[in-house]
Amino acid sequence: MCRERFSSVVKPIDESTPVVTTDVVVIGFGAAGACAAITAREQGADVIALDRANGGGATALSGGIIYAGAGTSVQAAAGVEDTVEQMMAYLRLEVGDAVSEETLEKFVRTSPEMIQWLSDQGVPFDSSLCPYKTSFPNNSYYLYFSGSENSGAYRRRTPPVQRGHRVKGKGTSGKQLYKPLAKSAQNKGVQLLPHTMATELIQDESGRVTGVVARTMQYAPARIRRLYTAACAVSAKPGIYYPPLRKQMERYRASLEERYARPIRVMARRGVVIGAGGFIANTDWVNEFAPQYANGLPLGTSGDDGSGIALGQSVGAIAERMDNVSAWRFITPPSAFIGSIVVDAKGRRIIDESRYGAALGQAIVRNHDAKAWILADADLMSEARRNLIKQTLWFQRAQVSALMTLDSVRGKSLRDVAEAAGIDAEGLIATVEAHNDAIDSGTEDPVGKPAELTRRAVRAPFTLLNISVRPSVINPTPMLTLGGVRVDENSSAVLDESGDPIPGLYAAGRTAIGVCSDSYVSGLSIADCVFSGRRAGRHAAQQASDLADSWPDRESA
Ligand SMILES: Cc1cc2nc3c(=O)[nH]c(=O)nc-3n(C[C@H](O)[C@H](O)[C@H](O)COP(=O)(O)OP(=O)(O)OC[C@H]3O[C@@H](n4cnc5c(N)ncnc54)[C@H](O)[C@@H]3O)c2cc1C
Repeated sequence: MCRERFSSVVKPIDESTPVVTTDVVVIGFGAAGACAAITAREQGADVIALDRANGGGATALSGGIIYAGAGTSVQAAAGVEDTVEQMMAYLRLEVGDAVSEETLEKFVRTSPEMIQWLSDQGVPFDSSLCPYKTSFPNNSYYLYFSGSENSGAYRRRTPPVQRGHRVKGKGTSGKQLYKPLAKSAQNKGVQLLPHTMATELIQDESGRVTGVVARTMQYAPARIRRLYTAACAVSAKPGIYYPPLRKQMERYRASLEERYARPIRVMARRGVVIGAGGFIANTDWVNEFAPQYANGLPLGTSGDDGSGIALGQSVGAIAERMDNVSAWRFITPPSAFIGSIVVDAKGRRIIDESRYGAALGQAIVRNHDAKAWILADADLMSEARRNLIKQTLWFQRAQVSALMTLDSVRGKSLRDVAEAAGIDAEGLIATVEAHNDAIDSGTEDPVGKPAELTRRAVRAPFTLLNISVRPSVINPTPMLTLGGVRVDENSSAVLDESGDPIPGLYAAGRTAIGVCSDSYVSGLSIADCVFSGRRAGRHAAQQASDLADSWPDRESA
């Protein structure tokens, strides 16, 4: 279904279609694609990477957090002690059965080496430890608790350890991750073809994937390519935060493609790696596979339309966990809100509020009709306002200020505030009583929040801040898809229905099932992209080149 849409404007292939030949073709040049391309080059393979936009994908827009531990050099410099066992114990709770125990162990054991490898590519890290709980530190801090490490159920199993490695750089650090990777790839001789969209995989008679049909803007006049580059950039950001602008840019891109795009074939002597992101930008697929998540803000680029997954499926790949979407509902910063209680429309507690924002988002969407409010008393609200000044980056400050002023109600009593918000007053009163009683009596918090993070809610006025998951300009819920094609966990080879590798085809990052396909905490997606991308690049490059030597040599596209 999806493929037809992608192929519809491609002109038919004929003898005049340019053919380019290389060893490894990489589709998509975000974290997964760039790491695959660099690694394949390191193995001595010739590599061409295609990207339908400018390159960088969601990776370049991201916060640039990488989940790493087990004793990285950055942790050591910060004086943070971590071990393989501790990181395994934590990640087992997040990763579930998304990958095998052996793969998880490999991921954990190689984590310090991954940070070293990234540093070797020029990615900057810093060991300044963040002293407060936040979803994303301000520009002073680069190592922090980026998941649910401090929550009750987690810390009972393993001591909390800071593993969120934020790439050093101001604001959202994804660009500081992508740029060095792109530069390293270029220095090593990876040929990047931007503005080139893979539309079809080519197979030989044996079923082996031997290349890619793409449509490219490479032959368009320079002026048109400049316009196309600008449209891609605007569509990515600010388009990510203002969907109507993105739609307009995409229409413009399509009109340029209609006129100027030309088909090419890029043949791969050794293998094709798909690192084309997920499918959060494909509304039809989200409605079909994960309808509960239809009201989110697509966290990615327009390239996250599932074309990578669809390409895999076109040659027999199996897509799994397509209903699994990570919905981000962060309540910190301000860190004071860890002490709040989060309730649903019946006034019931939803979760231990110190859990990671995606765990809260998932609980709201799946178990509470997508409706949720933060309850804070007067003292907590004052502290939260004070936190805002010190703990936030500008966009966090704008968002939380808007939530506090435009999307909240106040009341002199719990009953008043519940009625103002339209939630069950009796339920809310009972919940707050149970919460306060547990603190007073020194018994366990009703939802298991660690005692030192709980705060009595007693002083009026009370505030309910609406954090429901719904279309909202003030407080949208960012979402990304976690499902993808099934791959061999030792090689990243794409698997067919019977579990056999599809020869010549590999997938990585959010196109594939990986370490973060069960649940996401900050940094786990990019860490998985690096891990799976390097694995894909290594194995694709190591395949014997059994394509005919008489194939056309690489020509400049
Ligand atoms: C604002 C934001 C903040 C985030 N913060 C973090 C964070 O701090 N830590 C973390 O772990 N995760 C974070 N994420 C999620 C994370 O960025 C992504 O899950 C991850 O970068 C995906 O990497 P990828 O390589 O799979 O895909 P991408 O980086 O999206 O790269 C895919 C590339 O493929 C290209 N492409 C797509 N289809 C085709 C095609 N048919 N032909 C050719 N090219 C194609 C796209 O143009 C794109 O450049 C964040 C995401 C966003 C948007």
